[in-house]
Amino acid sequence: MRVLVTGGAGYIGSHTVLLLLESGHDVLVVDDLSNASAESLRRVAELAGREPGFIEGNIADPAVLERAFGEFSPEAVIHFAGWKAVGESTQLPLVYYRENVAATVALAQAMADHGCHLLVFSSSATVYGDGTPPFTEDAPTGATNPYGRTKWMIEQILADAAAADPQLAVGVLRYFNPIGAHPSGRIGEDPRGIPNNLVPFVAQVASGRLAQLAVFGDDYDTEDGTGVRDYVHVMDLAAGHLAALDYLVDHPGWNVWNLGTGHGASVLQVVHAYEQACGHPIAYAVKPRRPGDVAASFADPAKANRELGWQATRTLDEMCADTYRWQSANPNGYRTD
Ligand code: UDP
Repeated sequence: MRVLVTGGAGYIGSHTVLLLLESGHDVLVVDDLSNASAESLRRVAELAGREPGFIEGNIADPAVLERAFGEFSPEAVIHFAGWKAVGESTQLPLVYYRENVAATVALAQAMADHGCHLLVFSSSATVYGDGTPPFTEDAPTGATNPYGRTKWMIEQILADAAAADPQLAVGVLRYFNPIGAHPSGRIGEDPRGIPNNLVPFVAQVASGRLAQLAVFGDDYDTEDGTGVRDYVHVMDLAAGHLAALDYLVDHPGWNVWNLGTGHGASVLQVVHAYEQACGHPIAYAVKPRRPGDVAASFADPAKANRELGWQATRTLDEMCADTYRWQSANPNGYRTD
């Protein structure tokens, strides 16, 4: 299939582009590189032995969309592009609504205009808010911050679009906590500045770039008091996108699947797994809770297991070992300075 991948130079995007190329699909990446590096695509091409096409630009720009659809005639779109920092979204809500919601509306319109009917969309477990895990896809949704609301709104918009167009097939993937890297250590997560997320932060403490981890709260109602999340290997997540694409080919309508392992790990369990991977202790100190955090979030992935034949197979130890390999080989991420 010809697959247009927005945000394909980013963390989850680059791993998915690699699997698409390895599976024989033709890929065009559109990415404005605002939070990604073109070096990731160079390495993807080296690993796959084939190159994806690439347009540097933002899908909110009509000329970029026109060029992508006009030149490539995609049969499917996987839409990763978007802004993703919760804290930032509370400071810049209008930017988030423009870059996430408005850009997705423009993308869906371009698909309709060009007769492209398959769309896989990156959503997030954040749409479950502070409900009680494990979450099934029909658990109540809502969100507690502008970032989460953009994901929730886009899900609704795409459901309306699918209801109005009997040919349109939409697959919404609600990611839990993606971590890890390709086992080659050539591609991985490369956050700009100080990482917000746990594992990139732990990785930088382990490598000496940051002094110590702040554990945000140890008084939650969880086994060891620290927050529990469903960490899922980015290669498992990437495979979920290919499974969703296959499914959508003969299932028009709006579909939603959780992509998670179904098991939670606490902050301290992640720290200890990473210590095993890197072979030395990681300095941490317990600090107050981070505003907006929930105690526990983990998936019920039964629907993706059943309908997509998809299951996360990699363990937390593998996730940490792969992150460590990437981090050790690329202490400055994709930057060579
Ligand atoms: N966390 C932490 N210190 C950090 C970053 C995160 O203790 O520097 C905790 C956070 O409170 C949560 C878990 O790690 O319990 C996962 O946080 P992350 O930001 O990676 O993901 P999300 O909040 O989106 O689930």
